[in-house]
Amino acid sequence: MGYSAVMELKLKITTKICNLPIIKKPLAFNIKPNILEKKCLECGEKIIGRVDKKYCSDYCRNAYNNKVNKDSKNLIRNINNRLRKNYRVLDSFSLKEGKTKTTRTRLMDKGFDFEFITNLYTTKKGTTYYFVYDLGYLPLDNDYYMIVKRE
Ligand SMILES: [Zn+2]
Repeated sequence: MGYSAVMELKLKITTKICNLPIIKKPLAFNIKPNILEKKCLECGEKIIGRVDKKYCSDYCRNAYNNKVNKDSKNLIRNINNRLRKNYRVLDSFSLKEGKTKTTRTRLMDKGFDFEFITNLYTTKKGTTYYFVYDLGYLPLDNDYYMIVKRE
């Protein structure tokens, strides 16, 4: 075993036994490049240890995972808010026999965002309706839209 291999082994053992944060000062001796290049996903500190290690400490692993979860929850909350807003806009039109006609401008003035729908419905004839839950619209000619309610 060479000198660097021995030091590496000692570091591993030390880390395991004491469960201390990894030594943060640069190491004076040679370590294999694939080990040197590993960085903690949370704080960016170099990680020494098993090749599959992603974080320098339990603290960083928890911090990172909490952030990831929070971001995905924010994303879902934002999309749900947009859908709810779109639904309210469609619901603000009074329907006659389950439908009414409006324009793109009127929909957008009310804050409708055409990027957020929940599902599509295509008829046998190939006409596609865009739905936000049970309220939908069908694009017509000249920026007109038919708003419909699914029964
Ligand atoms: Zn870290």
